[in-house]
Amino acid sequence: MIYLDNAATTIMYSDVADMMRDYQTKSYYNSNSPYTSARMVNKELEGARESLRKCIGADDGQLLFTSCGSEGNSLVVLGTALFYLSRHEECHIITSSIEHHSILGATDAAKKYGAKVTYLDVDEYGVVDAEQLKRSLNSNTRLVSIMMANNELGTIEPIGRLCEIVKGYDDKIIFHTDAVQAFPRLSIDVDELGLDMLTVSGHKFGGPKGVGFLWCKDITRLDNIIYGGSQEFGKRGGTHNTSCIIGMAKAACLTMESKKQIGNAIKELADFFISQVTSEIDGVRINSPICQGRGYCLDNIINLSFDDVDGERLVAMLDHDGIMCSRASACEDSSMNLSHVLKAIGLSDKRIKESIRISLGVDNTKDELIEVLNVLKHRVELIRKMQ
Ligand code: PLP
Repeated sequence: MIYLDNAATTIMYSDVADMMRDYQTKSYYNSNSPYTSARMVNKELEGARESLRKCIGADDGQLLFTSCGSEGNSLVVLGTALFYLSRHEECHIITSSIEHHSILGATDAAKKYGAKVTYLDVDEYGVVDAEQLKRSLNSNTRLVSIMMANNELGTIEPIGRLCEIVKGYDDKIIFHTDAVQAFPRLSIDVDELGLDMLTVSGHKFGGPKGVGFLWCKDITRLDNIIYGGSQEFGKRGGTHNTSCIIGMAKAACLTMESKKQIGNAIKELADFFISQVTSEIDGVRINSPICQGRGYCLDNIINLSFDDVDGERLVAMLDHDGIMCSRASACEDSSMNLSHVLKAIGLSDKRIKESIRISLGVDNTKDELIEVLNVLKHRVELIRKMQ
């Protein structure tokens, strides 16, 4: 089996899995309980918080543990909207048309409560229109949320520049970025970028599923969406998922340690795959801006279309051959829904239907890609003959 769906989720580091087992079966105590063993667990948990904070260069603010990236994003949008609307103040939110469904779904929900939302356009590479952002800001704008890297295309947004525009207009506007695909692949320094909030998910970099974090420079303008105990500075109730939190911090450290090495290896694999697939198979179109160079696109996400080949059928055939890849995002898997991201960059419905997403990870090898290329060549020819 060859796994090429690392943007959907990643294999957990075995060291992380071993460590987590101990926190499930030995140090399983509730971190808020009033005895020594629990206090020791709490200390480990706070250690995890500190090490994650260092990974994003955050000298201050609060890092809240969440259950996933979707929760972090929902908390930012709904928590901000509820804060302002419940005080009878207007709430205008700006985001982009290519965000993950956790942002788009939360903005839809916020609209039901009375928030106004502007969705920014992107260019043919998926880059957000900075001029439109400037024009969209107004005195009721409370939140701007733009993803750091897109999950379908890999496009890296110019977050520092966008944040500068927003802060230049009004320093009080909250600037949030969804860094679920970007962290820890890209070097992130929240202070240097001028960010107010940043979302991360644990299962995208060798950590466990069901955990993430939201870093906030200031949580005072965020209402709860989960109530309960006083955990997470009173902003997110719920007994700590200690094993996952500690596992996530360990996975982040392991990835940071070998980041350069992993990054170079993946870049080499991606370059090899793209040069081979475009030279060996006719009618291939690379939809990701990966060929535009570093800093424009993540190296691990390759979205491509094969002329006159139904993407859904191709993915099913590859699955049959033991190769796992996907269409758009794992959250947009219905054949009825055309990818909102590919639509936003202006692709025709036909080309969107012909698209697949290959996302590379630390464990992929050149030999695997050679095998994938052979299978792809065969399957693409077969589908073209059948159609
Ligand atoms: N944001 C982006 C950009 C994503 O790619 C994903 C998941 O694929 C999420 C948010 C949601 O993360 P989670 O699966 O942890 O809810």
